[in-house]
Amino acid sequence: MADEEDPKEYRWETGYEKTWEAIKEDDDGLIEGSVTDIIQKAKRKRQAMKRGFSKLGMMRHLYVLLDCSEAMTVPDLKPTRFICSLKLLELFIEEFFDQNPISQLGVIAMKAKRAEKISELAGSSRKHIKAVHALSNGVPLVGEPSLQNGLELALKTLRMIPQHASREILVIMGSLTSCDPNDVNLTVENLKTEGVRCSVLSLSAEIRICKYLCTETGGLFGAVLDDAHYKDQLLQHIDPPQAGNQQEFSLIKMGFPHGRTESGKEPPLTMCMCHIDSADEPAKLTSGGYHCPQCYSKYCELPVECSACGLTLASAPHLARSYHHLFPVPHFNELALEQVQVQEPRDPPVTNCYACQKTFASGTDKMVYECDACKQVFCIDCDIFIHETLHSCVGCTTIPASAQSLQARKPVPPPHSLSVI
Ligand SMILES: [Zn+2]
Ligand SMILES: [Zn+2]
Ligand SMILES: [Zn+2]
Ligand SMILES: [Zn+2]
Repeated sequence: MADEEDPKEYRWETGYEKTWEAIKEDDDGLIEGSVTDIIQKAKRKRQAMKRGFSKLGMMRHLYVLLDCSEAMTVPDLKPTRFICSLKLLELFIEEFFDQNPISQLGVIAMKAKRAEKISELAGSSRKHIKAVHALSNGVPLVGEPSLQNGLELALKTLRMIPQHASREILVIMGSLTSCDPNDVNLTVENLKTEGVRCSVLSLSAEIRICKYLCTETGGLFGAVLDDAHYKDQLLQHIDPPQAGNQQEFSLIKMGFPHGRTESGKEPPLTMCMCHIDSADEPAKLTSGGYHCPQCYSKYCELPVECSACGLTLASAPHLARSYHHLFPVPHFNELALEQVQVQEPRDPPVTNCYACQKTFASGTDKMVYECDACKQVFCIDCDIFIHETLHSCVGCTTIPASAQSLQARKPVPPPHSLSVI
């Protein structure tokens, strides 16, 4: 992963583009401005593809199937496919739990025709990252993988998950072959009837059975060009997918624990439930922690599923973090600065970005961005920041009149009713 930061792609793979024609020198003979332009355009294009008001599978149970066969030793991704995959997978797990706080993830290794669980389905990133990291030393990369065994093992657990959850499998496949004990088409059929969404990321080429698996179960298929493309392809699985047809819409019971401290008293030392039977981090007596509101078992971190009574325990900020997926900020209109300042001047005149108060200069800010709801104008940096990080329009939330209309704003009638699951 030496050149992870370097988003290079080979010319012959992306097709023939005259990128040098897009780069123009500015008045001082500098090209920096137009290079940033190209990057920002790509970012805006990706934003525009996100659509709101559709049903999403917010509570996800995802199994990652990692190929640990001989094909993963090929050094076409640096240093090898395997090391590169582990590095990206660690990043993926981190991001996954950041964006999907009430979801769970598990990792399965496919090695020498067998499948082995590396980590069980669980909702904390620490354990998975440790397990994935441990793979980098001591796993013999030999033989062929078995796609069927991997899928069957994942399905065995996913079958137990209630229907309201979005059940997914992501296969990272390095090998071109799969050595299966039975007809793999039967497994694909099973996955389809169970409503498990399977996606495959192939590190070598497009494989027919993988493509078939993805189209049948409604997942995405991707073949990787190089490490930058690999990262991009992997990270697109972070956003929650559209809810499947078979997914049930039900209300689930959740508990919101809070640390119980009685005023004036030292909190008693107690044992937590999450560490009670873990071998590598033995349970210690601690005073703080979160108590399940139903059975009073103690946990040291949230979110977690209560192992005593099965209640999903979360904190309100975890739910708030999922909210922006359902109601993304609408895409801003792109306007030429000249148009808003000279041709159709506004009252009051547009001189600054509403968010960062930067004064618009005709040389550097050729384009400005206007929110449809509050009619405020933003610079490109704020436009990208609002859509990628902040997830709420600065104008709509700070101007009292627009804030009110935001409350009153009726969502565009969605094709189906919205539901938070
Ligand atoms: Zn614990
Ligand atoms: Zn409980
Ligand atoms: Zn700005
Ligand atoms: Zn706005």
